[in-house]
Amino acid sequence: MKFCQTCASPVILRVPEGDDKPRHCCSNCDSIFYQNPNNVVGTLPVFEDKVLLCRRAIEPRLGRWTLPAGYMENGESSLNGAIRETREEAGAEIIIESDSLYTLYNLPTINQVYMFFRGELANLDFAPGAESLEVELFTQADIPWKEIAFPVVKTTLELYFEDIKTRHFPVRMFDVHHHKDTGITTNLISHSSLNHSSLNHGFVNGSSKKK
Ligand code: ZN
Repeated sequence: MKFCQTCASPVILRVPEGDDKPRHCCSNCDSIFYQNPNNVVGTLPVFEDKVLLCRRAIEPRLGRWTLPAGYMENGESSLNGAIRETREEAGAEIIIESDSLYTLYNLPTINQVYMFFRGELANLDFAPGAESLEVELFTQADIPWKEIAFPVVKTTLELYFEDIKTRHFPVRMFDVHHHKDTGITTNLISHSSLNHSSLNHGFVNGSSKKK
């Protein structure tokens, strides 16, 4: 940012008193502007043995397939944001159970946190919204695995098709790091059904990991 959102004077990047990170500080009215990570919230809508995917009508990854998800708005909860995004992008209504939270990804390299919730489709009335080219149900075998828009979506889909075998859906949290030359690493940080020692042995999701 270049100008103060309060008085429109130029801002400078400096460490404010009592802080340890540079912030945009107004040279005139002393306003300080903090930039914090964005939350991206979405759902994994399922019907029988299929999941609902949207083909992106917008950049980035235009034309690739994704789960309905988007930025959380001020004044809404993460779950309500995910339900809203599902309506907007897929025209779909989902039934949310009490154990709907499924995956959480910290992406410190790009200052985002992703959250996905599981839900059954309430009906088969779905249709692409403005940000989608197509919306379609896929079995595991039919998913266009090579055309998935984001690694966090691919990991969530892979976990789902693994978990569906036992119908047990633990909540997992991952740290995802984007490396300049070697791609993306996805490390499991928290798992609602594993103890700490199991975690240390490390479940590292294979598909989106490059060492
Ligand atoms: Zn100002």
